[in-house]
Amino acid sequence: ATVKDVQINDLITEIVDLSAQMARYNKVIIATELQPGLPYVCLAPSEMQQVMLNLINNAIDAMDKTGGTINISTKISKLEENHIVITVEDDGPGIPEANLNRIFDPFFTTKAVGKGTGLGLSICYGIIEKMGGKIDVTSTVNQGTRFRIWIPIQAAGK
Ligand code: ADP
Ligand code: MG
Repeated sequence: ATVKDVQINDLITEIVDLSAQMARYNKVIIATELQPGLPYVCLAPSEMQQVMLNLINNAIDAMDKTGGTINISTKISKLEENHIVITVEDDGPGIPEANLNRIFDPFFTTKAVGKGTGLGLSICYGIIEKMGGKIDVTSTVNQGTRFRIWIPIQAAGK
């Protein structure tokens, strides 16, 4: 995949637009809080789109019976200097503690046979790691799940 300088907010807006129909069909609202004026980041747009789509589709899957809200935000990380942090948070069923450290493993899925390959999050993990970034998850059963992604900011064109 070819890397280029991208505006992460534009990329997220595109993916949210692409997901809007599927979200609406499942009574899921996607809200965004994107910090204006973020620096460009150098990455492969198709890979980053894949990551965002995976996280959004997982959240929609988790809330397809109940509906709910997905909040997506971007900002400059306060703790990790020179990183943009993207947060994808849902108010769905959450992930039981026992599963939490397995969800990034290849082939780990709680979905019915044929509904999930269990590859989505392991692919996300690999993509973000290759970018020199970081992804983590926190979740509370019956409250929801929050994924955070840190993307390193390099000088444009590097
Ligand atoms: P798949 O979607 O094919 O099951 P993933 O790697 O994308 O594989 O996700 C692995 C598992 O992590 C899911 O089967 C589900 O149990 C859990 N999961 C991921 N995202 C969420 C979420 N937002 N809410 C609840 N569970 C989730
Ligand atoms: Mg998935």
